[in-house]
Amino acid sequence: MARKNESPVPIKDVLGKLSIDELRLKSKRVFIRADFNVPLDDNLRITDDSRIRSTVPTINYAIDEGARVILASHLGRPKGKPDPRYSLAPVAKRLQRLLDKDVTFAPDCIGSQVEGHVAKMKDGDVLLLENLRYHPEEEKNDEEFSKKLAGLADYFINDAFGAAHRAHASTVGIAKFLTSAAGFLMKKEIEYLKGVVDNPIRPFVAILGGAKVSGKIGVLEHLEDKVDKVIVGGGMAFTFIKAMGYEVGDSLVEAEMVETAQRIRKKLKTAGIKFYLPVDCVISQSLEPGAETKIVPTIEIPKGWKALDIGPATVKLFSEALENAKTILWNGPMGVFEIDAFSRGTFAIANSVADAYALTIVGGGDTDLAVHRAGVTNALSFISTGGGASLQLLEGKELPGIAALTDRTTE
Ligand code: AMP
Repeated sequence: MARKNESPVPIKDVLGKLSIDELRLKSKRVFIRADFNVPLDDNLRITDDSRIRSTVPTINYAIDEGARVILASHLGRPKGKPDPRYSLAPVAKRLQRLLDKDVTFAPDCIGSQVEGHVAKMKDGDVLLLENLRYHPEEEKNDEEFSKKLAGLADYFINDAFGAAHRAHASTVGIAKFLTSAAGFLMKKEIEYLKGVVDNPIRPFVAILGGAKVSGKIGVLEHLEDKVDKVIVGGGMAFTFIKAMGYEVGDSLVEAEMVETAQRIRKKLKTAGIKFYLPVDCVISQSLEPGAETKIVPTIEIPKGWKALDIGPATVKLFSEALENAKTILWNGPMGVFEIDAFSRGTFAIANSVADAYALTIVGGGDTDLAVHRAGVTNALSFISTGGGASLQLLEGKELPGIAALTDRTTE
């Protein structure tokens, strides 16, 4: 298809904050907060380095500009004390390979040893600090701790979009003490999840899925006056179907959301927005491997059976609904795609999204994993690196990590 990673439309700058390319970085100590919270196996080997890769453009830019690059991140939940299982040492090694450059690894993120490392840095050098969450003050957004982090640098760059919904010392507190700007990843996330979504080229189709209505209701409400079509699949669809008065067997239903689901669906319909729900589904009595499955119309799910994927007629219906789209936003799988027997619907929709002649934006978390497994990542315009952060942005909420950055003044 026609487009890969380039946007077919100029994306206007919606950040309103300084970005890294507006600062003169030469010989400056630049503290870059990254999201290196990568998955590790039992031998502490990185099993997926995409989070590291996504910040490489920002790091390389700073190196090329002659900055002294100080990198910091959290990894896992070490509960405020040093724990070798959560050390960033494996990240230092991987970074060295990705940057093709020496990366010095500091044994902590504050203190005299770290200050010593920083003092020895030359232009273009890279220093990675140890896990920020070895200190309980990080998650408490402690002012003294923020000040110590800030004391290491001249500028603060936030490229950790995945942590931007958290007000921590290294995402918010530090920004009080330094001129602070967004890195390229942060900027791109906002340009797509806010810039494109709030001003889409129409028709704009939103596909929402995943387990719960409650997790996506804020997104639906925010998109209400922007979208032309809403497609709902995954477990959340069955709360809507229940709300229409149908029985759904043992499928996932959030009883307390039934009324809200009905209200939203009616509201969208009144506004002339097309609303699509599954017309058939793959059902089973259990998630156990080898359990019997059937394909039935959505309104005929027997008692004791649960719908765990969309069926082939729904794949066709949803795919046709995408055909004339110019912008597509997808957040949430169409079924329990982690299990082979219930993965077909999600993968089929991943292919339909990838084939559409549209700007395609995929929300983080499970959907990110699904498009990787479906092998269509190269055919999508943008895949968000943030789960909670991308949902909050799609709900139209301000993220503390972005709000804390230095405002851009326009002359
Ligand atoms: P969320 O975090 O709300 O996007 O939900 C993602 C999870 O929803 C995935 O782990 C899926 O396995 C799960 N899911 C998707 N469809 C269904 C379904 N029909 N029934 C139960 N769980 C589902």
